[in-house]
Amino acid sequence: MFDTVLIANRGEIALRILRACQGLGLKTVAVYSEADRDAGYVQLADQAICIGPAAPGQSYLNQAALLFAAELSGAQAIHPGYGFLSENAAFAERVEQAGLTFIGPSAACIRTMGDKVSAKRAMREAGVPCVPGPDTSMAQDPATILAIARQIGYPVIVKAAGGGGGRGMRVVEQEDQLLAAIGLTREEARRAFGNPELYIEKFLGEPRHVEIQVLCDAYGHAVWLGARDCSMQRRHQKVLEEAPAPGIDPAELGRVGERCAAACRQIGYQGVGTFEFLYEHGEFYFIEMNTRLQVEHPVTEMTTGIDIVQQQIRMALGERLGLTQADICVQGHALECRINAEDPHSFMPTPGLVSRWEVPGGYGVRVDSHVSHGYRVPPYYDSMVAKVITHGATRAEALARMRLALSEMRVEGISTNIALHREILQDPGFNAGGVDIHHLERWLQLRSTP
Ligand code: ADP
Repeated sequence: MFDTVLIANRGEIALRILRACQGLGLKTVAVYSEADRDAGYVQLADQAICIGPAAPGQSYLNQAALLFAAELSGAQAIHPGYGFLSENAAFAERVEQAGLTFIGPSAACIRTMGDKVSAKRAMREAGVPCVPGPDTSMAQDPATILAIARQIGYPVIVKAAGGGGGRGMRVVEQEDQLLAAIGLTREEARRAFGNPELYIEKFLGEPRHVEIQVLCDAYGHAVWLGARDCSMQRRHQKVLEEAPAPGIDPAELGRVGERCAAACRQIGYQGVGTFEFLYEHGEFYFIEMNTRLQVEHPVTEMTTGIDIVQQQIRMALGERLGLTQADICVQGHALECRINAEDPHSFMPTPGLVSRWEVPGGYGVRVDSHVSHGYRVPPYYDSMVAKVITHGATRAEALARMRLALSEMRVEGISTNIALHREILQDPGFNAGGVDIHHLERWLQLRSTP
């Protein structure tokens, strides 16, 4: 049990968690780096503690400083948000060892899902559809490797078991390139992730990114909260998300959603999580599970009416899930545009002083942001400054609301990608719905060639 939560994060998600805690009558402890000292949300918490200099390694990733802040403030639980330490099994373990509650799944679940090979094995065993290819790490013997790849069929993709952030993978079109690609990827994986383990699977040419949100209590109950489509990506980074995923057969989605919930029960998963799939030609292929809250959770909140962050905290408090699958009803359509402080053409981050900040409003419009007039965007962290979310009875209505919302938004002092979003919202391909994960890159390419 806990009545005080330390929020081990910053920016919009720190504020989002703070609001969820306050809504539940819990006390909050904000932590901040020296660069975030003046951030508005820090003042809203019951206590605020500086945990170190701007560099993430010395503050938001500094486990000892966070545990010390918890001890100092009397917080009995730590919410990791997303990014930073949210998927760090060793940190989850240290939090538990200190007698505190880590608001997330067990360290064991984080560890299993953090290794893509063990995650794939666990999911295949639980009946979740996976990308064709073995759920074991890459064989050592070249003849065996070549035989496996031939069996999968080219093109294949070589991926690092410990990979993340879209790094540590290589597509191989034909057999004579395979062994060299494996050597290169293994070396990269060893350097970037400290883990040379690789695996191989079928490369899907034009999939969509469709993900399923789950919510589980500590007593073996699990529900799934519909699907999100996050295919609009640049360099594997999501730019614009929506719920539900357009044009997917509800019966097929229902079957996969049920498999996800069943898998959670099987592995003893607790809290919120997301199953990420590639979706191609009507089939789902599991790629990974995120064992944390996600940036794009609001589109699911808007379509299900469920406060995902409050639910996550309530599950950590040991409450029983008050919802059955029959209670989950997806209504209308929601979109989320990630507003980044970046140059709309070069995509370089543009930190600096925000001299004007006017956000949209009105029916069906939600803005999650920690920024206000006079805020200085620090150069040390992710460049996202706001999430603009709209909801409508239909996808067309949500799109129309988003166009209107972005036309109202005024930001000066820093460059943002608002103009880019306005343009994307005019793109006939995106408007039609169901684009693949390469659509945005192709569209950007066309836009940059006069
Ligand atoms: P990360 O943890 O680095 O994000 P993922 O396994 O989620 O890695 O893959 C990231 C992206 O790489 C996917 O969203 C997709 O664009 C691409 N990708 C991964 N596996 C495949 C595959 N088997 N076929 C095609 N694209 C893939």
